[in-house]
Amino acid sequence: MSSVMWFRRDLRVRDNPALLAALEDGPVTALFVVDPVIWASAGAARRAWLAANVLDLAERIPLTIQHGDPREVVPRVADGRRVHVAAETTPYGRRRDDALGEKVELVATGSPYAVGPGLVRNGSGDPYQVFTAFARAWREHGWPEPAHTPRSPDIEQGDSHQRALDLLHQAVEDAPFDLPGAGEDAAWRRWRTFRDDGLDAYPTERNRPDHDGTSRLSPYLHLGVLHPRSLLAEVDTRSTYADEIAWREFYADVLWHTPSSAWRDLKPALGGMRYDDPEDAIEAWRTGTTGFPIVDAGMRQLSHTGWMHNRVRMITASFLTKDLHVWWPVGARHFLDLLIDGDVASNNHGWQWVAGTGTDASPYFRVFNPITQGLKFDPQGDYVRRWVPELEHLPGKTAHEPWKSDVGYERDYPLRIVDHADERREALERYQAVRG
Ligand code: FAD
Repeated sequence: MSSVMWFRRDLRVRDNPALLAALEDGPVTALFVVDPVIWASAGAARRAWLAANVLDLAERIPLTIQHGDPREVVPRVADGRRVHVAAETTPYGRRRDDALGEKVELVATGSPYAVGPGLVRNGSGDPYQVFTAFARAWREHGWPEPAHTPRSPDIEQGDSHQRALDLLHQAVEDAPFDLPGAGEDAAWRRWRTFRDDGLDAYPTERNRPDHDGTSRLSPYLHLGVLHPRSLLAEVDTRSTYADEIAWREFYADVLWHTPSSAWRDLKPALGGMRYDDPEDAIEAWRTGTTGFPIVDAGMRQLSHTGWMHNRVRMITASFLTKDLHVWWPVGARHFLDLLIDGDVASNNHGWQWVAGTGTDASPYFRVFNPITQGLKFDPQGDYVRRWVPELEHLPGKTAHEPWKSDVGYERDYPLRIVDHADERREALERYQAVRG
């Protein structure tokens, strides 16, 4: 009996348990559907990144590429056959799969995570609320060994939809900047280079945006071009690196249990908080023209590459929420638009963590100081100079404080749009008002 393998956030052949399960059923039709809802919600860079990885997969295996609402397309292609998938865990994906489950036999094997969201629970059967306890239980729970999928699986050639192919090729052509190499070979190369040359120094280097000290695998992990289980099989599971993978799993677990936290405060405690909508200041934040060098460098790295260093994601998110007093979904939406690793669980809970509305670790009263953060994590100013050409002429750490230099503004770098000390005070007053 033949079946369909419907690829979604698992655009790979290696270590793919759902594909393995499909192959056990006999000949397989490999399907990818360009879903107009997902397509329309992504910016040009994210579309290009998705398209490049789908097209890479299509060079590896005969992929049938269709366009349209999966709830219509998948039953048509399946034509009574079973449909294998990796379980989808986002609110949209779950709703879509629930609806589809009424029309086709959907068989889920594995998920985009080492441990499927919802499986790690405390002694009372409840989900964990904080990361440290989750990570401990997650390690104890454990995960299966990587699956040995054949390199050249037996897949039938199907008919692709010309409109779908055109959309994908056009998206790659329209990429607003150079993207990382797409596909699983590129992902594995990136991983091996990092594993051999970067992993040992990772605990100290990971906070330095001026160094290339992190794995840069998030765009691949997001689309399942590489599975976290494959990485965990090659690292010490007590390592800092495994901890970071655990954050990704934690946020997916939080979203699984509380789908509304994608766009609403996870904790109601700050429900009465007063927020502002300063249009010009938000635009300055988006375009990297706030006058705070590390914030501007980060926002420009984002718009020029579709990626931003984690430390700077925290600093820029704090600036929007605590210095400009803007509700976090405004920033989360902008990040999701531009990030090629844009992931509703990691992004939106990362924002909630910074805003103080999410998982416990970061209370609202912790306000990042964008100047001291810059001086600490980019001590020579190299990161700032790389992304903000108006500050290129300022040597060393002076790039972080152009206001202290006689020539700080001679290349038209903008003045600071707010006074950090005043806004910090304001943020704390608003916090006091709702916390009493
Ligand atoms: P590494 O440091 O090499 O870490 C390895 C992997 O661990 C990452 O690829 C990622 O999958 C995971 N990871 C690391 N840190 C985190 C974290 N704090 N939370 C969740 N997973 C983590 N990550 C995304 O994948 N997509 C997003 O849309 C996203 N948005 C974010 C928004 C904000 C405001 C913040 C503070 C963080 C966000 N993160 C997001 C988490 C983190 O910034 C990125 O995963 C990381 O910068 C990716 O770079 P890397 O692959 O080099 O990470």
